[in-house]
Amino acid sequence: MNILKNKILLIPIITSLLCISYLIYDNYIVKKDTHVNYSEFLKDMNNNEISQVTIKDNNTLKVSLKNGHAYSTDNPNSLTLKENLLKAGALVKETNGTPLNKTIPSTLLVISVLSIIFMASKGFNVSTSLSSMEVTDSKDNIKSKFNFTSVAGNEEAKESLKDIVDFLKNPEKYKNYGARMPKGVILYGDPGTGKTLLAKAVAGEAHVPFYAVSGSDFVQVYVGVGAARIRSLFKKAKAQGKAVIFIDEIDAIGKKRDSGKSGGSDERDQTLNALLTEMSGFQDSEGIIVIAATNRLDVLDSALLRPGRFDRHVEVSLPDTAAREKIINLYLKNKPHKGINIKNTAYKTTYFSGAMLENLINEAAILAAKDNSGFIDEHHMEKAFSTVIAGSNKIVRDSIKEEDRKITAYHEAGHALISMLKLPEDEVTKVTIIPTSKGAGGYTLSIPKDSAYQNMQYLKNKIMVLLGGRASEEIIFGENMITTGAYSDLNQSTKIITTMVTEYGMGSSLGLLRKSAMGSLGDVNSNEVIEECKSTLEELYNEVKVSLMNNLTKLERMANELLEKETLYASDINKILKNN
Ligand code: ADP
Ligand code: ZN
Repeated sequence: MNILKNKILLIPIITSLLCISYLIYDNYIVKKDTHVNYSEFLKDMNNNEISQVTIKDNNTLKVSLKNGHAYSTDNPNSLTLKENLLKAGALVKETNGTPLNKTIPSTLLVISVLSIIFMASKGFNVSTSLSSMEVTDSKDNIKSKFNFTSVAGNEEAKESLKDIVDFLKNPEKYKNYGARMPKGVILYGDPGTGKTLLAKAVAGEAHVPFYAVSGSDFVQVYVGVGAARIRSLFKKAKAQGKAVIFIDEIDAIGKKRDSGKSGGSDERDQTLNALLTEMSGFQDSEGIIVIAATNRLDVLDSALLRPGRFDRHVEVSLPDTAAREKIINLYLKNKPHKGINIKNTAYKTTYFSGAMLENLINEAAILAAKDNSGFIDEHHMEKAFSTVIAGSNKIVRDSIKEEDRKITAYHEAGHALISMLKLPEDEVTKVTIIPTSKGAGGYTLSIPKDSAYQNMQYLKNKIMVLLGGRASEEIIFGENMITTGAYSDLNQSTKIITTMVTEYGMGSSLGLLRKSAMGSLGDVNSNEVIEECKSTLEELYNEVKVSLMNNLTKLERMANELLEKETLYASDINKILKNN
């Protein structure tokens, strides 16, 4: 594409060079015909030596003699000159204005120069600024193998990207229904989980061009350059009609602005503003989607997340056991292998990202090649595993410790089980021992009941769910083995109970008094408030422990399922609960 553009640019350059050389030749070289006095000319005329005279303009006469010589002389502007010349047997030509042999090259020159300027402002800008930014063009991509089958696992992310694909395929359909489609999608999750791959797959599925830049490319460029790059990127994408624009590491330009310290980075702000302007600039029906990726959603400037911008957020999480198995299979598919225990590899690679798994299999393939063994076997996988683990971060190395996985499994199972026992109206949609980018391990609830008030019993139940993790750890591993894993749970439950007692009039130490309305008086019986909160939490904690003890088999079954599958969904959980 760029080469093509540059070739087109050659045409006006060559044309203008040709025109310039012609004009120089015409003006200075040909015009070297001598200038002769008028009296000399009259002499020639009287001698009938003149064959032709061209009256060029009001100032010069071009004279050709019969002997082949030529010269120019001044035009006396005499009325009788033409008559006399004709009498002397000369041919007389009159030209008005500049002759065509000059106007054509000059006009061509002007056109060429203008088109060079135009192309340079458009084409050069694009080619120089984007070439450094890894732009994959439509044709490579449509033919490329990237589609949703290139992404193993990540089912939830794929599901939420499916309607984006449909929108890219038929934006008109959505327009007819007056539906406003998202202009921007943010994929967030740990590095190497396949965010870039998913974005490419969206473009591949929809058969639209894929344009990729990275936010970090914009850091430390001169003021204005980043913004200009954004604009030319969008211009290029728009020229294609439909497109996926992918911005990796969006946090590099879209981080929350430090309050207080203004100024900071003008360049970043300009780049961000250019991005926001471009995004609000295209119509919903245009079929352009901006997909951005970040490791953390919470660091992004809220301006980016507003409706009409990046209003769809898709989590791309680390793969669970089943997803890891799929990824391993995907990368082994085209390699010779024999006797690899794929299930076992999937099982022991907790916390591995898709990229790490790909790397693991690549290492194994290299080892097999070194051995000349003809195929990758279990032995190569083992060796590669040690290599990859050694080079990875602490979390991954820790995860290899079965004990840590077990603690997490029981902790999360405790939360989920108590939630189902105490808050059956809130469905537990997912329990996992794989940490999300928001925090360590987790279970997710969807809260169907969206009531305006929360009653006291509901708040107490919520606290019990929060305490379920710690209680489970204590029951299974013993009082001395409880871990720091519960600190965020304790943080939240403390907040809820304190608010209940001091703000909602749900406690005895302050009764109906609202602490925040009491001014300095409110501090007086703090100790009593603390005592009340503490003992209430203790009561609730004991209740949680009793519930867990009464459902120990379910707790154990859920923990074991979690150890095996790492992520359980509503259907899995219901199955565990039904069997007694
Ligand atoms: P991210 O953008 O999230 O950092 P990438 O999409 O760049 O991650 O992933 C890096 C590489 O890891 C991919 O090119 C692919 O080879 C592999 N990979 C990661 N996740 C997956 C997955 N779910 N399925 C298949 N390959 C994956
Ligand atoms: Zn917890």
